[in-house]
Amino acid sequence: VITVDNLVKSFPARGGAVRALDGVTLEVQAGAVCGVVGPSGSGKSTLARCIALLERPDSGAIRVDGTDLVTLDDARLRAARRQIGVVPQGDSLLRQRTAAGNVALPLETAGVDGPTRRRRVGELLDLVGLTDKAASYPDQLSGGQRQRIAVARALAASPSVLLADEPTSALDPETTGSVLTVLDRARAELGVTVVVVTHDMAVVRRICDDVAVLDGGRIVENGRLLDLVSDVDSRTANALLPALD
Ligand code: ATP
Ligand code: MG
Repeated sequence: VITVDNLVKSFPARGGAVRALDGVTLEVQAGAVCGVVGPSGSGKSTLARCIALLERPDSGAIRVDGTDLVTLDDARLRAARRQIGVVPQGDSLLRQRTAAGNVALPLETAGVDGPTRRRRVGELLDLVGLTDKAASYPDQLSGGQRQRIAVARALAASPSVLLADEPTSALDPETTGSVLTVLDRARAELGVTVVVVTHDMAVVRRICDDVAVLDGGRIVENGRLLDLVSDVDSRTANALLPALD
């Protein structure tokens, strides 16, 4: 469903430029959960932001269902953006809105009418298991609950792709499980393709079908998790060892 082809993205820096992405080529299978891992500064968030169309790459292509998003004009870009739901890195909920109000926001922006909106918000809160927290404000929720609301919000406009940047980074293992369950339900019940950026190999082990390893802006390993774990030379396999219990 998503193909990333030779993506290059540089940022200006002292003494030249940083190549955050240095020719990234990657394929994410429809209906799969793909993990993007790699050391800090390896380009994970930049890749996620490029796929989410929040950042324009210098060159290369990003195709979702065959359409190259990089070359779209602004009007079509807005439409394409709706195909991709994003859970940004860090706390991203609006403090002054309730959980339900946060989930409703993309629907309001899209001009969805009130009754449809309320029904859809109800379905999404049910999907993430937080129906009873609809009227709570973000600071009345736990970190895991906030992330589940952020996932519900990302799913509001019925995207075909869900992109989550470090959705569990601030969470303990138990709470992490509740967020992963929600990502897995999005895939299983809504058929959404999930890309999850993480530094946590336990996350990869628990929900990913495929994994891509970034280092210095390049993909150094990419494939099905099941194939990689049986390869003793695989970086993924070696990084996974401590995460096995
Ligand atoms: P982390 O695991 O710490 O979140 P990451 O793998 O997500 O790291 P990126 O945020 O994609 O890494 O950054 C990749 C490189 O690009 C880094 O060298 C970073 O300093 C640089 N970079 C990212 N965004 C910008 C920006 N807006 N301006 C300048 N440099 C940037
Ligand atoms: Mg990052």
